[in-house]
Amino acid sequence: NFRGSTIFVTGGAGFIGSAVIRHMLDETEAFIVNIDKLTYASNLQSIPQATAARYLLAKQDTCDGPALRALFEKHQPCAVMHLAAESHVDRSIDAPGQFIQTNIVGTFTLLQEALRHWRKLAEPLRKSFRFLHVSTDEVFGSLGQEGMFTETSPYAPNSPYSASKASSDHLVRAWCETYELPTIITNCSNNYGPYHFPEKLIPHMIIKGLAEESLPVYGDGQNVRDWLYVEDHARALRQVLQHGQIGETYNVGGRNERSNLDVVELICDLLDTMQPAPTGARNRLISFVADRPGHDRRYAIDASKLERKLGWTARETFESGLEKTVRWYLANTAWWQAILQNGYETGRVGLGSAA
Ligand code: NAD
Repeated sequence: NFRGSTIFVTGGAGFIGSAVIRHMLDETEAFIVNIDKLTYASNLQSIPQATAARYLLAKQDTCDGPALRALFEKHQPCAVMHLAAESHVDRSIDAPGQFIQTNIVGTFTLLQEALRHWRKLAEPLRKSFRFLHVSTDEVFGSLGQEGMFTETSPYAPNSPYSASKASSDHLVRAWCETYELPTIITNCSNNYGPYHFPEKLIPHMIIKGLAEESLPVYGDGQNVRDWLYVEDHARALRQVLQHGQIGETYNVGGRNERSNLDVVELICDLLDTMQPAPTGARNRLISFVADRPGHDRRYAIDASKLERKLGWTARETFESGLEKTVRWYLANTAWWQAILQNGYETGRVGLGSAA
């Protein structure tokens, strides 16, 4: 369980990265170096074990090659879990430049430094080293009413975000094929759970619902996303890191397809039960607003390869995970209120984006 080993986690102050770090600190004995630029989306409060002796924060940009090189030379990691990214689709529509920079150039820079480090490793470390690239099902584009994305689905990204992630997946694949860097790629569906930044659909609706404010849903609300509880994702990533095959990709998902409208209605019901609003049921707050340009209609992920080959299954159903999540937001108001009080640039944010 990685005793005496160091693992680099990039983007570890973000939503999924912090869940990965919490998991790795709790469930393994690895020393974790969190490489994070600390953008608006980061939150160091999301890692309650930050004072642990097995944890170090390195505030660095993945586009900064010399800084990465120094970290590799100093810490000699046995693995890299690469999650650092610009991740919000709406922001990528309004300002794609930073997505190109971080998601593509940042991944390229990290690959180059990982390769340099890996080439210098002696056996058996050279054989066991892994570069795990964490990506999204959005690279596959949009589905019709039928079917699911598999590992062999063709890439067809539609947003600047998904195009930048698709580019990074291709770079990772090429570094494995061309330079034999031991890489693995995962493509996961939409995550939700504790410590999710308030601009994303589920926390946004919980917070607005609590305040009894309008709940704006894109288009007709029938866009379908396949939801996975973030802690199930973190556990999948660890299993892939330890047991996945070099050069392979694994889809990660929990078979929880829901329309955006269903998600918002379920949140309303949970809030009504846990904290009834004096003015009545919250689904009266739902309003429909102009759709997001290029809005993918449906995502659904077939995770059977991961289930079959590595024995992973999601533990949470959407209902159990969402209930846990709503309870978490009710119990941890200080965490999200601090983000709202500090303010963040909103742009198109808050219109029920699912990613
Ligand atoms: P997030 O936006 O919550 O966190 C991203 C983190 O990366 C932040 O802490 C940020 O400070 C850091 N970061 C951004 N640019 C950086 C840079 N140049 N150098 C170093 N650090 C930088 O994102 P998330 O939702 O946790 O997603 C993590 C990864 O998982 C991303 O690669 C994303 O594409 C992928 N993913 C996300 C989802 C989802 O539903 N959120 C689903 C599948 C895959």
